Amino acid sequence: MASLKKYQTKRNFKNTKEPKGKVVKSSYQLRFCVQHHLARKDHYDFRLEWNGTLKSWAIPKGPSYNTLDRRLAIMVEDHPLSYRNFEGTIPNGEYGAGTVMLWDEGTWLPTTKINNSFNMSSFKFILKGKRLKGLWTMIHLEDNNWLLIKEKDDTKGFKNINRINKSIKTNRTMTDISKASASMPKLTNPMKKITSKYTKKDIFNYYEKVSIRMLPFILNRLISVIRAPEGLKGEIFFKKHLENNHKGIKKINLSLENNKLTDYYYITNIYGLLSEVQMNSFEFHPWSSTINNLEHPDILIFDLDPDEKLEINKLREGVKDLKSILDSLNLKSYLKTSGGKGYHVLVPLKTKMTWAKARQTAKNIATLMEEKWPTKYTSNIRKDKRKGKIFIDWIRNTRTSTSVAPYSIRLRKNLPVSMPIKWSELDKIKPNEITMEKAIKRLNRIDPWEDFFA
Ligand code: ATP
Ligand code: MN
Repeated sequence: MASLKKYQTKRNFKNTKEPKGKVVKSSYQLRFCVQHHLARKDHYDFRLEWNGTLKSWAIPKGPSYNTLDRRLAIMVEDHPLSYRNFEGTIPNGEYGAGTVMLWDEGTWLPTTKINNSFNMSSFKFILKGKRLKGLWTMIHLEDNNWLLIKEKDDTKGFKNINRINKSIKTNRTMTDISKASASMPKLTNPMKKITSKYTKKDIFNYYEKVSIRMLPFILNRLISVIRAPEGLKGEIFFKKHLENNHKGIKKINLSLENNKLTDYYYITNIYGLLSEVQMNSFEFHPWSSTINNLEHPDILIFDLDPDEKLEINKLREGVKDLKSILDSLNLKSYLKTSGGKGYHVLVPLKTKMTWAKARQTAKNIATLMEEKWPTKYTSNIRKDKRKGKIFIDWIRNTRTSTSVAPYSIRLRKNLPVSMPIKWSELDKIKPNEITMEKAIKRLNRIDPWEDFFA
């Protein structure tokens, strides 16, 4: 039986923000992560999911793509699966005191037999990470000592691990992380009421907690934000441009269809997100492309907008009909609540396509639904065409248009969240049902969108 006893007795969870964790059911896809850990000695923690925990090794020099390198890997106590999301500082005096940065993540696949007690003399495996890929071997020497070796294959790796010095999740350096843990939050007016129930600090804490899940959907994407400096009751601004420079936020000049230049901006790391919240931006609406490839969207989005009087069952049926069409086109789709009246269905695009192509694809799908079920759906944006129907909004797949980001709160009553959910939860969760508290609780579960960008 897997156990976290060793892990838990070594740590005092009153002092460290590391998760206490528990043994969970292992998923179908085994996960792995690498954490850069600047403790008494600098090293990389290499962790492979097995039996509901993370088998863990400390690798002083870190993994190497050079097939001639044999990297010593010292097996340490099993860590909880939730440890793979931990990034931050472990305070002085605590076990492992120092800074931890998420260096890589992904899934792994053994290609030789694994014993539950991990007492094999060696094993081979494939890593499908963002930075580590391809075939690898671990050889057991004696006691806790193993060697990690790259096998020959055709994956192209980096030369020097030290040059890749930013978090795979939050895009910050070790120095950023240790400074942040000392100085955050620098929040002005933290007790200001945004609604009768929630303060600015509640919202700030919320975004800090969900950032690890949210950032892949907003970092390096042009954004619009909705600001509410005086709360829900005050004036609310939709902003696409930036006046001042802030850490973690960058401007770009963009030429539009009419050949006019206009400035947009984007967030580059977690500080950008938090400084937006400091400036009272509470809703985040990114583009569906990243600045690295602005002219090719990497996401298709369908927004189901029901006629106001439509029953929720009909709306859910619409979401299912849309999914069945996407399934038949071999397009894997993901579901989230809008935090408002509807649901959003997103499709990650693996193949490069232009905005024109993406827009046409989305339009074809909406038109197909309309033709197949003319009494249920319309692809026409006009409200008077929507009576008793659902508008399948495909128009968002246009360059310069935005949609609310996963995990963004909505500036509506109770501040609901646009929440990623499992397909099997569609019938159980209303579009505006997930609040910040519920969203935070859900972070303990397996991420229903885990393989979105895989
Ligand atoms: P619902 O489920 O209630 O329809 P939603 O997120 O699908 O929620 P809206 O909140 O109405 O829909 O947003 C519609 C679109 O308009 C989104 O693409 C959003 O990014 C954009 N948007 C929102 N507010 C503004 C605004 N003030 N100015 C311009 N665009 C906006
Ligand atoms: Mn909508």
